[in-house]
Amino acid sequence: MEISDIINHLGENREEYYNSVSPPIMQSSNFCFKTVDKMRQCLQKEFEHPFYSRGYNPTVGILRKKLAALEHTEDSLVFASGSAAIAAAVMNEVQQGDHVVCIKSPYSWTNYLLNTLLAKYGVTTAMIDGTKVENFEAAIQENTKLIFLETPNSMTFELQDLEAVTKLAKSKNITTVCDNSYSTPLCQNPADYGIDIIVHSASKYLSGHSDLVAGVLCASKKRVENIMANEFMTLGGIIGPFEAWLILRGLRTLPVRLKTVLENSMKVLEFLENHPKIEKVIFPFSKKNPQYELAKKQMKPCGGLMTIYLKTDDIKKVETFSNSLNYFLLACSWGGYESLQFPIATLHDSKSYHKTPHPANMIRLYVGLEDPSLLINDLSQALEKI
Ligand SMILES: *Cc1c(COP(=O)(O)O)cnc(C)c1O
Repeated sequence: MEISDIINHLGENREEYYNSVSPPIMQSSNFCFKTVDKMRQCLQKEFEHPFYSRGYNPTVGILRKKLAALEHTEDSLVFASGSAAIAAAVMNEVQQGDHVVCIKSPYSWTNYLLNTLLAKYGVTTAMIDGTKVENFEAAIQENTKLIFLETPNSMTFELQDLEAVTKLAKSKNITTVCDNSYSTPLCQNPADYGIDIIVHSASKYLSGHSDLVAGVLCASKKRVENIMANEFMTLGGIIGPFEAWLILRGLRTLPVRLKTVLENSMKVLEFLENHPKIEKVIFPFSKKNPQYELAKKQMKPCGGLMTIYLKTDDIKKVETFSNSLNYFLLACSWGGYESLQFPIATLHDSKSYHKTPHPANMIRLYVGLEDPSLLINDLSQALEKI
């Protein structure tokens, strides 16, 4: 189905709700029935029919249809956060004694899930450099049940070859999960390569306005049903109808937001790559990226996040640079309208949960929807101060 058709119309049966153009926020925990028999019938279909909103809510239902269609899967689930979606996907697949192979720099709480939380329940994980398929092959054991990918990851943007990794996984009957938050379904569809479960933080591009936290899981109907009947209903990390409605609204402009973010990113990238005070820039669609060809093969051009290394070891200068930026707000997250900066120096604290191998001169930037000249001038004046 065509993308704008999905985003603008799929799942919206307007005659069911007074022909209102914008779908209603169905703010109800439960739904009632005329007869015992009708209630009994609907209870049997509680995952696909209004009964109780932990299972199915009509506003969330519209969103699920759109997300599944965008990701080329049969069904999807929406969670209270990206982390909840990731935890449900992983926990559905593994049990005590099982082994996971994960790329070495996933989202920080994915790392925590695998190496701390699930380690408590007897699940072991190998963290590998995912840029070479041989490393997956070498890490796979008899008890490997799951391969966890994040391509590109959201800090240093290493890619994994989706075609090669899924081929290997299928030959060994191992389930694959891919965190596709960076690319969104508009720039990469892991299901086309045979990835079994695709997860997203909807707090980023999908909602797009830095006003909610939510997560998405896309998979076959069979898998979604299984996850729903287990992790989803039991752990109960569901999204509320209002947040689901905000994501529906955010999705309407996803293509135009991504287009502008990419255009702005390419201009900012060109400025940074040619600046004498910048040691290095990492960006998947930079011609200098060693994985540029792979990026072009499996993704559509996609921007926003890029990581810079300032040409200094002096943490004071890094702080001066960051403190001098006026338009790149000092904040975590990304994917909204506003430009952001995340200095790795903030993780250099012995009390941090997030252990980092990265140096203090590294800063992740997110290029938002501001005019690129505003952003370039801002970077330029901050670089002059160091
Ligand atoms: C933010 C993020 C997550 C976690 O999502 P939340 O919605 O914050 O729980 C997972 N993966 C990636 C790549 C992210 O950027």
